[in-house]
Amino acid sequence: MTAFRLSSRSLARLVGVHPRLVALVKEAAALTPVDFMVTEGLRTPQRQVALLRAGASRTRKSRHLTGHAVDVAALVDGQVRWDWPLYPRIAAAFKAAAVRQGTAIVWGGDWSTLRDGPHFELDRRVFP
Ligand SMILES: [Zn+2]
Repeated sequence: MTAFRLSSRSLARLVGVHPRLVALVKEAAALTPVDFMVTEGLRTPQRQVALLRAGASRTRKSRHLTGHAVDVAALVDGQVRWDWPLYPRIAAAFKAAAVRQGTAIVWGGDWSTLRDGPHFELDRRVFP
């Protein structure tokens, strides 16, 4: 298995993200069987309001606002794919990296309501 590498665009989107989460994303990229790109890290309050208005978010207190969350998109042959089965495979890489680094994370795909497969965040209980 070849390790995937984050593109410079993905790395640029990690600017302002918590260093523990950045380290996790990097290791997940090396471990994942499904390539991914980072689509969003730190989010401005203005963008959060716009997402709320558009119905793309349900909260004003997104973890993206504080650099505690990232969103990813699966890549198959360099093309973005939203097929659900790809995301648990990426999440498994994040969870493996989290165990190795001792960093508590939450995957949006594990939420029972508003399941959010592309979303990963540092666990609030450990990283308030
Ligand atoms: Zn998100």
